[in-house]
Amino acid sequence: MGNLPSSTFCLDNYAGKPKEACGVFGLYSRTLAGELAQRAYFGLYALQHRGQESAGIAISDGDRTVALRDMGLVSQVFDERRLAALEGGHIALGHVRYSTTGSASWENAQPEFHGRGDVNVAVAHNGNLVNAGALRRELEAEGFEFESTSDTAAIAACAVGELEKGYSDAVGEALKETMRRLKGAYSVAMIFRDKLVAFRDHHGFRPLCIGEIEGGYAVSSETCGLDIIGARFLRDVEPGEVVVINDAGLKSYQVESPRRALCVFEYVYFARPDSRFDGEEVADARQKMGEMLAEEALAEADVVIPVPDSGIMAAVGYSRRSGIPFAEGLIKNRYVGRTFIQPTDGMRQLGLRLKLNPLPSVIAGKRVVVIDDSIVRGNTARKLVRLLFEAGAMEVHFRVSSPPITGPCYYGIDMDTKNQLVGANYTVEEIREQIGATTLAYLSVEGMTKATEQPKSSLCRACFDGEYPIPGSAAKFALEGVIPAGFPEATSGAQAKR
Ligand code: SF4
Repeated sequence: MGNLPSSTFCLDNYAGKPKEACGVFGLYSRTLAGELAQRAYFGLYALQHRGQESAGIAISDGDRTVALRDMGLVSQVFDERRLAALEGGHIALGHVRYSTTGSASWENAQPEFHGRGDVNVAVAHNGNLVNAGALRRELEAEGFEFESTSDTAAIAACAVGELEKGYSDAVGEALKETMRRLKGAYSVAMIFRDKLVAFRDHHGFRPLCIGEIEGGYAVSSETCGLDIIGARFLRDVEPGEVVVINDAGLKSYQVESPRRALCVFEYVYFARPDSRFDGEEVADARQKMGEMLAEEALAEADVVIPVPDSGIMAAVGYSRRSGIPFAEGLIKNRYVGRTFIQPTDGMRQLGLRLKLNPLPSVIAGKRVVVIDDSIVRGNTARKLVRLLFEAGAMEVHFRVSSPPITGPCYYGIDMDTKNQLVGANYTVEEIREQIGATTLAYLSVEGMTKATEQPKSSLCRACFDGEYPIPGSAAKFALEGVIPAGFPEATSGAQAKR
């Protein structure tokens, strides 16, 4: 399969949601050597929600690493024949991608290879460097050349530069030095010679966990990637930790971590509900968000319906706390994804209906509370409210199980500019008017935080409260030297300037 044609239409756009950057997966096991590619495939299959633009798997026997990567979903990129071509190693690396830095093209698909002399690495990365441009210029001055425009190449080159120096405890120490040069969000899995290496940025913005499996270990962006291959969850990779896995087992190295800052949006929307962070199921946190929302913004209504799938858990919580019956009033086409059929303009108008269809028997003549996890631009919410009124709803009370998004994200989520965000530019009442709801209410920042059962100090909530753990800039495309129209100038102090 080649690059997706430019006419490819992604129905996921109609979700109106920010896009997660990527999912990473790694596996080290000599016992499972014959089926490593299949296990990696299923690991990526479980992480598909984290990126739908491209997928790739690299396999290594410690001497030779081969990779297959292409544009499309995991199931589109790989089949039995392609997986069979990846047999023969005991280290696997996998990646699903949605681009935040670098455009969506085959060259930016991962795992990426980078090397100089006899030092070669294969890298899979989730996150976004805030110093990617400056770092790349430094690395070019050090003699590195770049073929891809993603910031992953800068991470890989940086690692190669340090590995070349040959530390006594080579890989762990080299990666610690690498991490001292990287600023931003990165959860990385990497193959270097006979080792699988995983490391996570100083704040731990994006998740990364370790599991134990027959004859070795697995690393995955989320625990659902471990569950699907039968790996037993061991622990999270800590912020600022480097984990090196080889035949000798697992060894850990640690750099300083100023504070944890796991992205709270992982709880709200990005992560799969069956994944766990710090022992808590994401589904449980989402139910609690719904309960808090009912406490903070109770509506007088006849039925609570979720926007599937991400609003389901919060709607269950809202219903439980409010006593208003829960029902599925919107039916999602679960097989919608990328289609190669270009819709006509008339079809585009249908928009949301391609993905969601209302059930009049649940909605007609009712006062409806509809629960969604977030409102980004407001277009989808407006279409949704119209859809519900057209299906006969008497009142539509829109409830959002997260606070208004008031700032961009610099750490790997596709929300680069403030002017895209309805919550940054309008009051709640103005948004209610725009989307046409009877009432509108959001969960408070405090309520959302409480639902995660994490202290405020261990979460990033920057796009909700403006407290950026590290300054950032609108980085997508920055490495290509192309800043699209509408992008603000890069900032050096996001909090102060926005
Ligand atoms: S700014 Fe928002 S989306 Fe980005 S890492 Fe922080 S909480 Fe997550």
